[in-house]
Amino acid sequence: MIEINQDSFEKELQSNSLVVLDFYSTECPPCEALAPKFDALDQLYGKDIRFIKMFRQGNRELAEKLGVKGSPTLLFFKDGQQVGDVLTGGIRRSDVMRNLDALLPEDRVKDIHASITPKVTETETLVLGAGPGGLAAAIYLAQAKVDTLVVDPLLPGGQVSTTHQVSNYPGFIDPQPGFMLAHNMAEQAKVAGARMKVAVEVNKVDLEKKEVIVDGHETIRAKKILLSTGASPRYLNVEGEKEYYGKGISYCATCDAKYYHDKEVVIIGGGNTAVEESEFISKFASKITMVQQLPHLTANRAAQERAMADPKIEILFSHEPRGFYRQGDQMMVKVEELDTGTVKELVTDGVFVFVGMKPNLDGIGGGLDTDDWGYLKVDHEMRTNLPDVFAAGDVISKQIRQITTAVSDGTIASIVIARELQ
Ligand SMILES: Cc1cc2nc3c(=O)[nH]c(=O)nc-3n(C[C@H](O)[C@H](O)[C@H](O)COP(=O)(O)OP(=O)(O)OC[C@H]3O[C@@H](n4cnc5c(N)ncnc54)[C@H](O)[C@@H]3O)c2cc1C
Repeated sequence: MIEINQDSFEKELQSNSLVVLDFYSTECPPCEALAPKFDALDQLYGKDIRFIKMFRQGNRELAEKLGVKGSPTLLFFKDGQQVGDVLTGGIRRSDVMRNLDALLPEDRVKDIHASITPKVTETETLVLGAGPGGLAAAIYLAQAKVDTLVVDPLLPGGQVSTTHQVSNYPGFIDPQPGFMLAHNMAEQAKVAGARMKVAVEVNKVDLEKKEVIVDGHETIRAKKILLSTGASPRYLNVEGEKEYYGKGISYCATCDAKYYHDKEVVIIGGGNTAVEESEFISKFASKITMVQQLPHLTANRAAQERAMADPKIEILFSHEPRGFYRQGDQMMVKVEELDTGTVKELVTDGVFVFVGMKPNLDGIGGGLDTDDWGYLKVDHEMRTNLPDVFAAGDVISKQIRQITTAVSDGTIASIVIARELQ
């Protein structure tokens, strides 16, 4: 791999028919996460494809010309033309490989894939999930000199990284942007000595053998596993929901409320999240129609009172959504009034769905005891029913899911693990 500047880019394109270009920055965690993957892929594909790195801030002119706005950004070129995907953010090895493979003949791709040597990584503790629960555990474990590896399919931070402002995490007088809090937790874990494998594909989790396969070729073996995989929004599973996901339907007010300045939105749900997020959305939107299946809200009383007093918020009680449709630039939501069966059509600029969360346990659950909602049952030391498998944070069965409680669970689990490994 070579590092070049913008002046020699054209020459590189002329002398190499296949090129992959990495625009990177310094002090950029996703760039740090990509760098070893990019190096390793250069070893695999380097005979066929030219791997180039370029410092984005030092080569702004070319970056702007190529439409590159953030770091890292990977661009692929064939015969001087840009092809394939533009990869940015937490870039996975499998996404890079898919684009590299598309540049090469099938036989060559087969040979390259056959040459990949399986890798085995050993660690004392494997933490699955780099949200607050997993990161708190990693900090404690690493500070206790326990060899710790944290794995996450995304960049570190979990739900906190998509939270606009966090005002209730102790230690900060002013509200903190969620992504900054997440960044600081991850850096603290790294400084303590925890290793991180983020933006990886988690292919298989075998809790009995305590083995996890990532990126298709790397087996991680651990003495203890901590599951801190968190939770994700529950879906409604009604017509149009998948089709308009991210294209009119959002599950994250922090991420998307800003797009609804002076616009009308429909919010599905009436629990804590729906009501609290409606307060945030109300700062932007001109009108909010909340669709709640029960004849009352289930949020905490103070939040309910604020929502009821907000002149921008109208609540349709005992209504359920039946489908989402596009109507020109707007969305149309069909809702059914449960008492009468009457179906109404709400035309709106956007839809937010807040109907609860579910534990992230796809491909992990085998043999684990869970509650009725699928959350992991643990004892007071965060042990699951499986030997040497612990769990912490939003993924466990409990009443209050907050950053502080996830951090608390991670702390307890890590201290117990560290003691057992002594
Ligand atoms: C919009 C929003 C606002 C919030 N605001 C606040 C607030 O102001 N204050 C507060 O205290 N709490 C807030 N919360 C709740 C808080 O963010 C969560 O309680 C907390 O993040 C839970 O931490 P966790 O580590 O258990 O899980 P998460 O934060 O969910 O992190 C889990 C991590 O595990 C990873 N993962 C998933 N599957 C796998 C797998 N198979 N293998 C490896 N890793 C995996 C995920 O990618 C993720 O990074 C908010 C939540 C949301 C959604």
